[in-house]
Amino acid sequence: MADELDEVKSEVAAGNRALTELGLAAGVRASLGHVSMRVPSDPGRFVVKGRGYRIDVLQRMRPEDMVTCDLDGNWVDGPPDSLQCNEIKIHSCIYKARPDVHSVVHVHPDYAVLMSVLGQTLKPMAQEGVQMVLHPIPVFPHTKIIESEEEGREVARLLGNGRAVLLLGHGAVTAGVSVEESVIGMAQLEHQARLNYLAVCAMGPDHPSIPHEVAEAVLHITPLKQPHFQARLPHIKRQTRASIWPYYRELVSRDM
Ligand SMILES: [Zn+2]
Repeated sequence: MADELDEVKSEVAAGNRALTELGLAAGVRASLGHVSMRVPSDPGRFVVKGRGYRIDVLQRMRPEDMVTCDLDGNWVDGPPDSLQCNEIKIHSCIYKARPDVHSVVHVHPDYAVLMSVLGQTLKPMAQEGVQMVLHPIPVFPHTKIIESEEEGREVARLLGNGRAVLLLGHGAVTAGVSVEESVIGMAQLEHQARLNYLAVCAMGPDHPSIPHEVAEAVLHITPLKQPHFQARLPHIKRQTRASIWPYYRELVSRDM
């Protein structure tokens, strides 16, 4: 079990660091945000970035800095003098409501925040990350931080069965089956938000976007089913997977 917990802490620390590397928690936002992951063998607990560090920025997080909490957001284990992150209820309430979710990310990304204040629904504007904006993303209508169980439950309610929630003038939350999915989902969400912002600047709030059916078709591609790939597949040991996560995971883990 110790090995498993060490692996989870390592993945969560890397997820926090990757958010800075991806530009989602840098500059004035370098200390704002947190990644968490549910403990696979103990789904009533999760590991998350805490508070109480000498230098409290996401880019400096180490596995040994991580805090373990239960589904009520109580501190269970962590370094001496550590606390849960302020908005622990975002994580605990989503894990309680969604047994299928194994990782949650919260950060304050520029364009997602900006578009939440401008009241603009994010629409599909490019292929990458289209799944994040295929349906309107719910907006939590308060800018203050999430502190109470009630506020956390409301965020979880708005999330529903989806992958993302925007917090008005505050930030965004993504949920996934893994740290990879929640972190990359956040990067893709911010990418779509930036393109939406540029489109509003270019043509106003009624700008064109990718039609729903055309956007949805992106999710149903099966390139390896084509005969020219089928002929080659039996001869290769490792199938390629188009994810930027292994690159960022390795990049940020060098001194961990
Ligand atoms: Zn926040």
